[in-house]
Amino acid sequence: MRDPRYDILFEPVKIGPLTAKNRFYQVPHCNGGGYRDPSAAAEMRGIKAEGGWGVIFTEQCEMHHTSEITPFIELRLWEDKDIPQLRRMSEKMKTHGALAGIQLAYSGINGPNLYTKEVPLAPSALPIRTFTNDPVQARAMSKSEIRDLRRWFVNAAKRSKEAGFDLICLYGAHGFGIFQHFLSRATNQRSDEYGGSLENRSRFAREVVADMRDAVGDTMALTMRVSLDETIGELGFSNAELRDFIEMNRDLPDLWDLAQGTWEDCSGPSRFKDEAAQETLVRGIHELSDKPIVGVGRFTSPDVMAKMVKSGTLDLIGCARPSIADPFLPKKIEEGRIEDIRECIGCNICITGDMTMSISRCTQNPTFMEEWRKGWHPEKMNPKGASQSVLVVGSGPAGLEAAWALCRRGYDVAIAEAGTEIGGRVTRERKLPGLSAWGRVVDYRDYQLSQRPNVEIYRDSELDAESLLEFGFENIAIATGASWRRDGVSRQHVVPMPIAEGARVYTPDDLMGGTIPEGKIVLFDDDHYYMGGVLAELLASRGADVTLITPSAYVSDWTNNTLEQAVIHARLVEMGVEIVLNRGVTEIAADHVLSNCVYTGRTTRYDADAVVMVASRQGRDGLYHDLLARESDWADAGIKSVRLFGDAEAPGPIAWATYAGHRYARELDGEDIGDALPFRREITELAAE
Ligand code: ADP
Ligand code: SF4
Repeated sequence: MRDPRYDILFEPVKIGPLTAKNRFYQVPHCNGGGYRDPSAAAEMRGIKAEGGWGVIFTEQCEMHHTSEITPFIELRLWEDKDIPQLRRMSEKMKTHGALAGIQLAYSGINGPNLYTKEVPLAPSALPIRTFTNDPVQARAMSKSEIRDLRRWFVNAAKRSKEAGFDLICLYGAHGFGIFQHFLSRATNQRSDEYGGSLENRSRFAREVVADMRDAVGDTMALTMRVSLDETIGELGFSNAELRDFIEMNRDLPDLWDLAQGTWEDCSGPSRFKDEAAQETLVRGIHELSDKPIVGVGRFTSPDVMAKMVKSGTLDLIGCARPSIADPFLPKKIEEGRIEDIRECIGCNICITGDMTMSISRCTQNPTFMEEWRKGWHPEKMNPKGASQSVLVVGSGPAGLEAAWALCRRGYDVAIAEAGTEIGGRVTRERKLPGLSAWGRVVDYRDYQLSQRPNVEIYRDSELDAESLLEFGFENIAIATGASWRRDGVSRQHVVPMPIAEGARVYTPDDLMGGTIPEGKIVLFDDDHYYMGGVLAELLASRGADVTLITPSAYVSDWTNNTLEQAVIHARLVEMGVEIVLNRGVTEIAADHVLSNCVYTGRTTRYDADAVVMVASRQGRDGLYHDLLARESDWADAGIKSVRLFGDAEAPGPIAWATYAGHRYARELDGEDIGDALPFRREITELAAE
């Protein structure tokens, strides 16, 4: 049963005319599905309702067609036609007594309007501020257009009510919502009554809240999401100004939703930000208003959550990523199952679904966004099929997730691991600078497996095809992982590159295995995710003189999608790493490398005592192929199926491995669907011609 220390988290909280059943508040978060995959997004929210959240929000919802953030896929409420898909979502949210919230966003200076082709409207005329530096400018709204915008907010509020929502969040944080654009002197340079003093800059927010309260305030609660600190220096909306704003407008919304100024700051990865990182920015704000406060901080620990409430810092515990990694977090605390919480590792892979306009995934929760598409539930597995036993070879994230999901289906599972420790790549990578929280991928599964009678783990057990044939398992799951290549094959070089005899070339596996080269090091990064940047950090921290060369225009380019690229670059500069962009490596000699400009091909020589090669990885699929070669012996050995998955099949991020393991487990003994699509999808209904 629930630990009384956490009782406080289950107290109801009044928000305007409504009451949240507890303090667990799923703040708005993107999912890459949005208007393109409405049922997938709705079902995902419904699972959170089942998991016990007191308040559940949509992602940002574009509330008028004059402001949209294409290419990113969020929700839209532009006309009545949008109501049914939003109603589907609110209905799912409310299934277990949660309050359903919609976040209305007018993107202003952040909306390039690439789809609607409308001229963007903002408090002041400035270039659009987006991740993609779109070559578009906004014009300043006239006073009559401000009146229009107030009316559009009221229309959107009425539609939100019709769509079944209980709460409306007015978006003014992360640089994304127009309320922030009015509040900040950087984006509001008006000289009329909407600009200048803080009183004037607050006018728009006050007017919109008053209008909306008249329209829907009798039944709906209005929340305002504002930035804790815009972090752009003097001109920006600072933490001090935020406090003045709240004090001046004490009771404006029914709840203050406080979030850090940029999305990169607010959703900081665990590599750079700890749990509750925003605490000091929030502390004391409570005294400035009588309204409840929600704040975020990648909260996964119920002790930290309880402390936030007891100390009077927060009234509601806001979670986006922790609710993705474990939609059942509140329920697990309520049932006294703390050790069952699948803690977010802070990798920001979920955010990449939005940034790449695909669909989100989660490293820890492979069922995220597959609740409707594949019918996957994070806490329930499909019943066991015809066979009984599975041998999983390899205990990396793919093998561990497969084993955990299989044993929940009721299979007898054995895991064989060549090494002394389980966890595969995660066990090595968690020791790298900033990546310790990633170890939760292993810790969670290790503990869960230890609680199950139908799983055995064999360490120090490197298996070959012969032993697999001897063991007598019906199903063999091969998740033997991958190794980093030494020969440079990746994107610049699709065949091995010229490496002189005597050249000292190290791979990430060497470094993670404890061999740390010294002296002058060239790190060649043609992988472009985190590994190159992390290893440069590791080498620099050990005193090496590091030059990072990459053919990309950015260090750790793909981390633009995990919102950490800028911080990685800054960290490396501060550590004295020389960063060489837009250059490849064409040749490695014993004491230098030749580097080419990716545009002109001109070469430059860089002295190097050693080279760290962060190229690509090669699946360890030898065992699989050995077993395939013995297919004629399978029947006698009782083997019904052999499958290769995870990094051994095709290397990718850890989230790809947990997904592959989970999928293997779900589909074992399943019916053959032939050429059919393996997931459900929605297609836009054709309009009448
Ligand atoms: P993934 O990300 O796909 O899970 P990892 O590289 O993290 O892959 O993990 C693969 C694991 O498989 C490693 O811990 C490795 O030691 C183990 N392994 C590789 N080959 C064998 C083998 N022949 N027998 C047992 N374990 C193996
Ligand atoms: Fe957390 Fe990573 Fe899952 Fe996002 S993808 S919720 S950061 S574990």
